[in-house]
Amino acid sequence: MSEATPVIGVLALQGDVREHLVALAAADAVARPVRRPEELAGIDGLVVPGGESTTISKLAVLFGVMEPLRARVRAGMPVYGTCAGMIMLADKILDPRSGQETIGGIDMIVRRNAFGRQNESFEAAVDVKGIAGGPVEGVFIRAPWVESVGAGAEVLAEHDGHIVAVRQGNALATSFHPELTGDHRVHSLFADMVRGRRAPESL
Ligand code: GLN
Repeated sequence: MSEATPVIGVLALQGDVREHLVALAAADAVARPVRRPEELAGIDGLVVPGGESTTISKLAVLFGVMEPLRARVRAGMPVYGTCAGMIMLADKILDPRSGQETIGGIDMIVRRNAFGRQNESFEAAVDVKGIAGGPVEGVFIRAPWVESVGAGAEVLAEHDGHIVAVRQGNALATSFHPELTGDHRVHSLFADMVRGRRAPESL
């Protein structure tokens, strides 16, 4: 990969793909939608967007990308999941819908819709470890929270006593949606991870 401009895919099966493409471009990455297994070969990192994790799970199996994605993540490809994407990166869902699978990659247990229903969506200032310049505006839409993390995962942020941002090695996940704000600092952090510039111990 080119050191300066990593190519970052956005899993484009369902969800807020376009907003992530815009945010990644603002973070100086080359961003492109990814749907098919063969498209995985051309990317250095991947964002799994917000949306509906059950739908993304089903479509990933249907499009034949679930297994190739798991293999890339196991091999160390950097991944960042927001909201439904966070659920997709969890090794375990507390309350999965029947047949719901995840890509996995982060040793954590997530609870879907933990912050309430659509009409209980809210915004809150969230301090994220490793993000300088003050809190980020967290947009929570039927958001999950993280019930617990394993030894290898690091908690980067909490809201109201609940874990809302986690990193394990090259995998990053937030309950909230930075792509829906004009603030691209979390995407910049991820782009730096893809560039290999932000080892976990440097956070
Ligand atoms: N509640 C959704 C799910 O379980 C996530 C919502 C979102 O991504 N904004 O997948």
